[in-house]
Amino acid sequence: MKVIKINPRGYCHGVVSSLNLVVQIAHDPETPKPIYILGQIVHNRHLSKALESLGVVTLDDASKTRLELLDTIHTGTIIFTAHGVSPEVKIKAAQKGLNTIDATCIDVTKTHVFIRDAVNNGYDIIYIGKKKHPEPEGAVGVAPHAVHLVETIDDIQALTLSNDKIMITNQTTMSLWDVSKLAQIIQTKFPTAQFHREICNATQVRQEAVATQAKQADLVIVVGDPKSNNSNRLAQVAIEHADVPAHRIENLAELDIAWLLDPAVQTIAVTAGASTPTLVTKEVIDFLEAFDPKNDTTWEKQMTLQLEKLLPRPRKKRSE
Ligand code: SF4
Repeated sequence: MKVIKINPRGYCHGVVSSLNLVVQIAHDPETPKPIYILGQIVHNRHLSKALESLGVVTLDDASKTRLELLDTIHTGTIIFTAHGVSPEVKIKAAQKGLNTIDATCIDVTKTHVFIRDAVNNGYDIIYIGKKKHPEPEGAVGVAPHAVHLVETIDDIQALTLSNDKIMITNQTTMSLWDVSKLAQIIQTKFPTAQFHREICNATQVRQEAVATQAKQADLVIVVGDPKSNNSNRLAQVAIEHADVPAHRIENLAELDIAWLLDPAVQTIAVTAGASTPTLVTKEVIDFLEAFDPKNDTTWEKQMTLQLEKLLPRPRKKRSE
């Protein structure tokens, strides 16, 4: 089957840095044990499982906030994920005497600094992001009294603000188009509001690549975790801006052969979320390239992924 490998796709610099840091910490004999991650280090279940093999425990309970997750930890090391945490979480971890490691992506930190400075200068912040996602939780936590999370037009309509100094900003992994549209609606309601877009470069270039390169395909497959906002947004961009049907799958196991047997599907475009390991995507691409609708011996999905191969190798310490 003809496959368009959308480029760029997959890992971003923030995910690579976070993973390198966790692997380094896990291999350092001086790191206080046990080692916990406050949520998934990046949104990918395969990576969390692979980290378990290094003795790193992921605290993954979607019903709990980062602060609530922290209540369950009393000793050892706690790692803050690439999505960032609120200052309150950092203070609480320090008060508990935990060894803390901050794997927040620098692009998320940039947003936190922007919010803090704007609030200190008297602004209210309207933050466009996904409810119950850890990144907005951390960003709102920078100044809970002045940061207002909105996800939908209804949220904007329900918002009342008496402050004329308003800044609009956003979660780094939102759709470029959704954020612009919601910002316009906000500015219609609050004409003094200024828009400071914080979509990270990795998200922007991956979405733009899908919007242009996927147009030549009959179907788009996005390889990414169900919790990964940027992966879900890539599927949305394919449908809304390349006008091509799209499915997000976690791995090869979720690829439905019926999609490939549709006679209208001759060319498939593949992309991957910023937190999707390259080998997980490669397994999907290899399968699709070998797939022949007329030869059912090519339809069998052989999963050969080895979790331990998904993690970077620890850097060797220089000898004295
Ligand atoms: S998607 Fe963007 S914000 Fe998220 S980790 Fe990657 S570079 Fe950082």
